[in-house]
Parts: sequence; C-alpha cells; structure tokens
Amino acid sequence: MELNEYQKLAMITKKKWDNKDAELIDSALGLCGESGEVADIIKKHLAGSKEMNLDDLKKELGDVLWYLAETCDYLNISLDEIAKLNIEKLKKRHGDKFSGYGDRSDENK
Ligand SMILES: [Mg+2]
Repeated sequence: MELNEYQKLAMITKKKWDNKDAELIDSALGLCGESGEVADIIKKHLAGSKEMNLDDLKKELGDVLWYLAETCDYLNISLDEIAKLNIEKLKKRHGDKFSGYGDRSDENK
C-alpha cells in the first residue's frame, strides 16, 4: 500500500472536530500515546516481564501511523511528502550509505 493511499483511507475514520485546536491536540497526544504503547511492549519484553507479541507491536505501530496521518491531514501535508523529506534529510546526513542505491525519486512520475 502506498502512503498517500493509506492516509486517504485512514482519514475516513477521523473524528469530525468542531475545534481545529482540539484536532491538533488530539493528533499530537495520540502520537505520543501510541508511541508510548510501542515503547511499553518493548520495555516489558526487555524487562522480561512479558514476551513480545509481534502482532500486538505491529498493531501499535499502525496506531502510530494513523495519528501521524491525522497530524499530516490537519496540516494539509501528505505522508508521501513527509517520507520524501525524511529521505532527503537522511541522504544529506548519511549520503555515503545511499551510494549505489540510485535516485528513485522520479520513479513514480
Ligand atoms: Mg494503540
């Protein structure tokens, strides 16, 4: 699935907010909350108190993605744009690691 397709489908389930500030707060706190759920699964695994359930971890990572999509939707930014910007940043920071990989930025045009 492509990121923008995911964002479009995920936002079908987005709550309708009367207050735009509340929507942004929901997005930001949701990202923090779901990231915390990911961290908790890993923490309990590392502490030996609970075996890691990969299916549960995948679901929580999906929840993080959902709130990221909501945050981007609020800001009128596509997930695809965020992904591209992040790769550009990584290339500037770790350019040598991308050598030989080629420039795939034009593949979908
Ligand atoms: Mg969750």
